[in-house]
Amino acid sequence: MRSTTMWALAEARSKSLPEIVAVAQKAGYDMKGVVRRIINQGRTPLDDVEVAHAIVIIGGGAAGIATAASLLARDPELDIAIIDPADVHYYQPGWTLVGGGVFDAATTAHTMAATIPRGVHWIKAAVAAFEPERNALILDGCRVVKYQQLVVCPGLKLDWHAIEGLSDTLGRNGVTSNYLYHLAPYTWKLVNELGRGRAIFTQPPMPIKCAGAPQKAMYLSADQWKRNGALEHIDIEFCSAGAALFGVADYVPALMEYVQNYGIQLSFGNTLVRVDGPGKIATFRCTGANGVEQLVERPFDLLHVVPPQVAPDFIRVSPLADAAGWVNVDQATLRHKNWPNIYALGDVANTPNAKTAAAARKQAPVVAHNLLAAMGKAEGSAQYDGYGSCPLTVERGKIVLAEFTYGGKLAPSFPRWLLDGTRPSRLAWLLKERILPPLYWKGMLKGREWLAKPELADQ
Ligand SMILES: Cc1cc2nc3c(=O)[nH]c(=O)nc-3n(C[C@H](O)[C@H](O)[C@H](O)COP(=O)(O)OP(=O)(O)OC[C@H]3O[C@@H](n4cnc5c(N)ncnc54)[C@H](O)[C@@H]3O)c2cc1C
Repeated sequence: MRSTTMWALAEARSKSLPEIVAVAQKAGYDMKGVVRRIINQGRTPLDDVEVAHAIVIIGGGAAGIATAASLLARDPELDIAIIDPADVHYYQPGWTLVGGGVFDAATTAHTMAATIPRGVHWIKAAVAAFEPERNALILDGCRVVKYQQLVVCPGLKLDWHAIEGLSDTLGRNGVTSNYLYHLAPYTWKLVNELGRGRAIFTQPPMPIKCAGAPQKAMYLSADQWKRNGALEHIDIEFCSAGAALFGVADYVPALMEYVQNYGIQLSFGNTLVRVDGPGKIATFRCTGANGVEQLVERPFDLLHVVPPQVAPDFIRVSPLADAAGWVNVDQATLRHKNWPNIYALGDVANTPNAKTAAAARKQAPVVAHNLLAAMGKAEGSAQYDGYGSCPLTVERGKIVLAEFTYGGKLAPSFPRWLLDGTRPSRLAWLLKERILPPLYWKGMLKGREWLAKPELADQ
């Protein structure tokens, strides 16, 4: 233990805390006792100034802002702080439509300052580590924040570096991704420039946020090629690490009709492992029906990549994580399994729902209610049913609106005569283009809880 501690403190100047903690953990040692010194580059922190708030929320994304707003809607006097280093809050569900030439990217970004609800303290810093037994968080730079109740929602990490060569070529050589704000417009540019050739759309292993987004990008591109007459000169291939087109079978027939109409080749069990941008070659690890793996190189003219997605490093190595690195919460109450004054929601939670903003919209009121119940300010226990939604943009003007709860149980928001989610629908497109953005900015982020009132468990 002593040697590992000395090694950890010596490495603190050159390696990140998660790297050090992960290596020590692998060797069987817990660096919990020296986390603050590691963050402080190996030195004992002298300045032990602490700030304290009744409720602290990590992350001012979809889940964090919605939770703060839902809390304030119930009790405007609450002492809440949001910790987030970002200057900008993004409406990520809009990026598919940016990549499809429908939205202007700027409409999906608001300043964080304008997004954080009035009355909430904003601590503009990144959380580096947890000390749950002391109800404390350590920020980068070693400041300490104490809490009575903690909400953890820093989203997930897009692991671009897991694919060899990708970072060097992203945004160049025909390689793009709607998963980045600054690259979604590049997708649309590439689509319009491509008159013939080979377009590959990739999907990594689950879990990822918005599991439908990899194919949404593909359908909107194919639709544009159909409109401008290029489709017959472009070979489209969907290379997915998974074994099915979509996780909930009821939506697959409608999607397959589009796959056939656009002439898309489906290649399952194909995981992107390397990209040679200048050479325009993508390499996949392909698992055959017999389980045998081989590397296959595919030339491309356009490559739309969705990267593998993992829990953020500081979460993965923390005492809050499960074996896979996600925050370990009860899937109904969203309360941490070991620390009753900690909650998690959004992409970082280990709940088996579809990681979507739609899920966060339903989760935030549940966390708000349960947290206030724990403070003696509300009655009963609210339950999250696993709702998530994925509007699959199959063509410009039509959407297959997947809505489901835990276990892939269909959970349509509208009666079937009005909107059948398993069929392509113009109304669903209208919802995505016109209704959902204001529902997000003016409803969900303002604590209005439209279509999201929490259900209480039977007492
Ligand atoms: C291309 C694309 C299409 C999508 N389409 C849809 C869709 O159609 N429908 C849908 O419902 N969802 C969709 N999503 C998914 C949706 O955007 C996410 O599920 C949602 O944003 C998750 O919310 P979150 O608050 O958990 O994470 P985020 O919104 O990502 O926010 C996380 C926040 O945490 C902050 N943070 C990170 N690390 C730290 C730290 N160490 N300390 C403090 N703060 C930190 C970040 O700065 C960020 O502000 C899509 C996503 C993408 C990328």
